[in-house]
Amino acid sequence: MKQVQQHTIMLFNSLTGKKERFEPLNPPFVGMYVCGPTVYNDVHLGNCRTFISFDVVFRYLQHLGYKVRYVRNITDAGHLENDADEGEDKIAKKARLEQLEPMEVVQRYTVGFHRIMERFNVLPPSIEPTATGHIVEQIQMIKKIIDKGLAYEVNGSIYFDVRKYMERESYGELSGRNVDELLAGTRELEGQSEKRNSLDFALWKKALPTHIMRWESPWGEGFPGWHLECSAMSTKYLGEVFDIHGGGMDLKFPHHECEIAQCTAAHNKKPVRYWMHANMLTLNGKRMSKSTGNTLLPQEIFSGQNPFLSKPYSPAVVRFFMLQAHYRSTLDISDEALAAAEKGFRRLMDTLTLLSDLRPSEKSSFDVRLSVQKVYNALNDDFNTPVAIAELFEISRLVNLIKMGQESLTAQDLQFLSDAVSKLILDVLGLENDQASVNEPNKFDAVIQILIDIRNKARADRNFTLSDSIRDQLLNVGIQLKDSKDGTTYTVI
Ligand code: AMP
Ligand code: ZN
Repeated sequence: MKQVQQHTIMLFNSLTGKKERFEPLNPPFVGMYVCGPTVYNDVHLGNCRTFISFDVVFRYLQHLGYKVRYVRNITDAGHLENDADEGEDKIAKKARLEQLEPMEVVQRYTVGFHRIMERFNVLPPSIEPTATGHIVEQIQMIKKIIDKGLAYEVNGSIYFDVRKYMERESYGELSGRNVDELLAGTRELEGQSEKRNSLDFALWKKALPTHIMRWESPWGEGFPGWHLECSAMSTKYLGEVFDIHGGGMDLKFPHHECEIAQCTAAHNKKPVRYWMHANMLTLNGKRMSKSTGNTLLPQEIFSGQNPFLSKPYSPAVVRFFMLQAHYRSTLDISDEALAAAEKGFRRLMDTLTLLSDLRPSEKSSFDVRLSVQKVYNALNDDFNTPVAIAELFEISRLVNLIKMGQESLTAQDLQFLSDAVSKLILDVLGLENDQASVNEPNKFDAVIQILIDIRNKARADRNFTLSDSIRDQLLNVGIQLKDSKDGTTYTVI
């Protein structure tokens, strides 16, 4: 709690377009909701960037002493192929194409997502609710909105009435859309759609006989609209008004705009005090996206198995690469940029090692508290990780000068700097030394060698199930085996 009082965070609120002083509703508690993945496919690096950005927010707030309840959902129903409430459910489609149960698709990609998050050292959220686990809450919320006269039923589907809502509240504030212009510009729907107005959106959709993911409701069998799950789950776990809502920039409209409308309609209150939007990761200058196929997968980067890459990069290096850009800037990924990031990352890790080996002096030649304060100042300024990293590099430069005898620190200052820098690098930025073998190289080597020997024996016995399983499991934890005529070697990827 002491630290919370020392630091003032200025946070860019996408709703007002301004940096504002962060003041939680009930300090030291903070409620934060971030839209999670739709689990019908492997997460790509773009998705990972957004979750890494909010992981730093979560870590930093906790580091300052806030008690954060971080809710990040799993979208396992209701997200249709097209944002205009048309098309097939993404998960149901995948299930149909692969002849799986929808829940098999959900399970497979949820597990995959968790594995990738763990490799990136992204902390699990406090609560990870699923849309299918909250159908009851979603139906209740729809009833409330209907009771307020802000939704209507057509043939077993329920739509939010944006025009009616606008008679009472503003709509389009977050995304900065001028809704009158949008309305004037859109053709009347004239029977082509059930919606009264093209801006209306589905709260509940009637399930056609072919739709496999369906639930009972007061309006017949159907499924919830995508925007509704986040409103129902954020309300349930964080209350009608909570502190921070985050997600990628692409979710501002319509998803977040609709979330605001649903919650305001149901509770007569704007739900979120600070909206935060993370910018996009691009590849060849274009947004990384599942639907266009312009993607790089985390596994491809960790193994280097993509023609775009000259070699593998470890999760910590990729995380560092991402944190070298501010979360509100776009970031283009390239092999050269990753290689440069790798050098920078090693420099930081070397600084940590060096700090624990330096000899103290009688006097300090610089102010360690000021150096550390500069890193905090950067993080307090809308979580500015690139500036924080630049300040850490400045510390790294000074530490190298101490080694060369050109700067000096007392034992006490050295201890302070070492503690502060390792907390900032490891706990707040969430970077971890990817060379697990560094501390105990001999033991690590010996253990891997035992596994290699067991695998080679299995191969000699033609027990390929076992030998392949050892190879694949090692790869899963980032250790790649290479066979050559001289024997088997390994690399940590
Ligand atoms: P989805 O699984 O498509 O619902 O996306 C999960 C999260 O990843 C959302 O917050 C998106 O805004 C975010 N996202 C999608 N594409 C990118 C990208 N290229 N860069 C950064 N974040 C992204
Ligand atoms: Zn959402």
